[in-house]
Amino acid sequence: MLEIITLPVLTDNYIYLIHDPVSRETAAIDPALSQPVLDILEKNGWQLTCIWNTHHHSDHIDGNFQLKQKTDCKIIAAKADWDRIPGIDQGVDEGDVIALGQHNASVIATPGHTRAHVVYHFAEDNILFCGDTLFVMGCGRLFEGTAEQLWHSLQKLKALPKSTKVYCTHEYTQTNGRFALTVEPENQQLQQRMIEVNRLRTNNQPTVPTTIAEELATNPFFREDSVDLQKTIGISSGKSVEIFAKIRRLKDGFS
Ligand code: ZN
Ligand code: FE
Repeated sequence: MLEIITLPVLTDNYIYLIHDPVSRETAAIDPALSQPVLDILEKNGWQLTCIWNTHHHSDHIDGNFQLKQKTDCKIIAAKADWDRIPGIDQGVDEGDVIALGQHNASVIATPGHTRAHVVYHFAEDNILFCGDTLFVMGCGRLFEGTAEQLWHSLQKLKALPKSTKVYCTHEYTQTNGRFALTVEPENQQLQQRMIEVNRLRTNNQPTVPTTIAEELATNPFFREDSVDLQKTIGISSGKSVEIFAKIRRLKDGFS
């Protein structure tokens, strides 16, 4: 079994450390900072083997250089981001498989938030690291891609097994949930979930990981088919991608 440590840093970022006790390999996903990672490694007696970045934004890569310097880890990120990932050693693309010990992760290209965003899916372990593509009850903003691209990317994640545990890079859950309630106020699972989310946040607990099943039930960006949602936003006959684009625009105006 992989051990996963969730490390909250900056205002709302998460760095994940994944450790395989058999091979003793350890990966850091999207290290925004180096020192908190070094501290956890030391505390657990782990050696950093590799960094996997999901995209080039500074709050996902700023720890790269120093971690590489101090641990000699290997840095993996999207091939298409080669020129903007500090210290990159290996470029990956859709369908590539990378390993942590005996655990394989497939690379899924998810352009939209940025043009080269990738996510890492451990199919056998049922775990997804999705960076800024999918959030709890939300999705990434469109910085470099179109709504259509992000919609296509999210369809790939939507199709993963429902029990997949999903680790996102930001704690945006309360704001996302408040927005979700504005577009689907009658969704009872959403109402229930917000009670739980507020309880967790009051106790300063992370709301990650989520699951694909929970997102299918409560994430408006997975719910273009909801009749209630369509009614609230005033589109009933559009294509899913058009409904998605409208929800994304409404969310941009919300926060
Ligand atoms: Zn980002
Ligand atoms: Fe980010």
